[in-house]
Amino acid sequence: MSGTLYLCATPIGNLGDISARCLEVFNEVDVIACEDTRRTLQLLNHFGIKKQLTSYHEHNKAEKGAVIVNMLKDGKNAALVSDAGTPAISDPGEDLVRLCIENDITVTSVPGCVAAVNALILSGLPTCRFSFEGFLSVNKRHRFEHLESVKNDTHTLIFYEAPHKLQRTLSDMLEILGNRRIALVRELTKIHEEVVRTDLEKAQSLYAENSPKGEFVIVLEGATEVETENFWDNLSVSEHIDFYINEGLKKTEAIKKVAKERGLLRHDVYNEYHKISERDKQ
Ligand code: SAM
Repeated sequence: MSGTLYLCATPIGNLGDISARCLEVFNEVDVIACEDTRRTLQLLNHFGIKKQLTSYHEHNKAEKGAVIVNMLKDGKNAALVSDAGTPAISDPGEDLVRLCIENDITVTSVPGCVAAVNALILSGLPTCRFSFEGFLSVNKRHRFEHLESVKNDTHTLIFYEAPHKLQRTLSDMLEILGNRRIALVRELTKIHEEVVRTDLEKAQSLYAENSPKGEFVIVLEGATEVETENFWDNLSVSEHIDFYINEGLKKTEAIKKVAKERGLLRHDVYNEYHKISERDKQ
């Protein structure tokens, strides 16, 4: 029978946040797969645990994933940890989980800290609906496309960012999303934990004057007004059709075009237009 992969959350700063179950699992499994063996060794040493470690990270995940799956198929149990927080959130753990599922290996979780959720609850921004956006790409076009794709989302947005990229990210956010409320949550659970609740414009000036240090989560207010993207957003179906007729299109062509632009069925647009013209005639 195959073993089990335990996804073990570890602290994101304060070692006191490790769970009793996580330590139990560390003691019981045959091996712990981790991003950085030196870092995980420090954690194990702190808790007096001796265990075989194996590295599993972005650059060896293809070969190492197969090795770990074979171990699990041989009946061994393994824990997976990331450098900090919950594995599979913005780290290669996601790929190992998928591989285990494909190989019918049991995967279970040992819950704990996730920087995104802790930042969200401290932000003061709405928590009832939110989306986790992870890291923005280093590629400018992809970064802009990502921000454009969430521009009209009305729920709270959560991003991870490295301190040396923070200023650029704030300026891109301001350019694409416009000014809105933001919480910059830094060094969670550590001595220098700090939450700056402000707006994007002020945050940009603040970090232009004080270079950002430490680990950051950016929590951004969702869109308060959805941008008008189509010239016809404020026209009725009938006015939209008349616009194209005035531009020189035949009525049937105008109806076809309007149906396509609005994602409606042509006969519904036709009926709507004729219902209005009939009413106007009466
Ligand atoms: N798996 C982790 C989790 O559960 O949150 C996230 C790993 S991701 C590679 C690292 C990013 O998480 C950092 O760049 C930062 O944005 C965020 N992060 C991690 N620890 C943090 C902390 N103590 N304070 C603020 N942000 C943190």
